[in-house]
Amino acid sequence: MFKKGALLVLSGPSGAGKSTLIKTVLSHFEDVYFSISTTTRPKRVGEVEGRDYYFVTKEEFEKDIEAGMFLEWANVHGNYYGTSLRPVLEALDEGKLVLFDIDVQGFYSIKKSALASLMTSVFVTTPTMQELRKRLEARGTDSELVIQERLKNALVEMAHMKEYDYIIINEELEKAKEQILHLAHTARLKRHKDEIEAFIKYWQSH
Ligand code: 5GP
Repeated sequence: MFKKGALLVLSGPSGAGKSTLIKTVLSHFEDVYFSISTTTRPKRVGEVEGRDYYFVTKEEFEKDIEAGMFLEWANVHGNYYGTSLRPVLEALDEGKLVLFDIDVQGFYSIKKSALASLMTSVFVTTPTMQELRKRLEARGTDSELVIQERLKNALVEMAHMKEYDYIIINEELEKAKEQILHLAHTARLKRHKDEIEAFIKYWQSH
């Protein structure tokens, strides 16, 4: 059966402001659900289990892959990250807009999945690479080595920007917030292809 909700996928370099924009959407809409990912990376200072991520061991993650628990999963910066399928389907059934903070590999997986027609995708980035480095340093949660790893990964991710429906260049936070709220409104209007086909049948017979 087709799903009533929709998907809003945010990707882009770590430090570009995806989490802040997701929080903005969560605080402005009622029927939204943030897909909490599972990861094997160490918890950062201030992160909360079950709010930011589900933190698991590599062994636990690999068991879940085997069991087919993930809608998508990927290895990012040497750690596993994945989206559990069941909560996403439940939220969609409840007609919610499901928000994702996932990397480009995860975006491509959803694009190939049965949920593709429900997805609106947004790539969030900084105006320059220098600005990204500045923000990562200011965050103060990552070592220089980790920052370098993230900048290297950002270069790879930027090459996929053009595959996304929309781009947000997060220069002024207030403007970026306004843009994500517009996109969240629009994303809700997406319809699953099965629903469209059912509508055409209905339309023809009335
Ligand atoms: P961070 O370690 O900064 O929280 O996240 C690193 C990268 O992993 C980000 O680009 C983020 O979008 C991505 N990521 C987080 N959760 C998932 C997930 O469930 N699946 C995929 N494919 N990427 C994820």
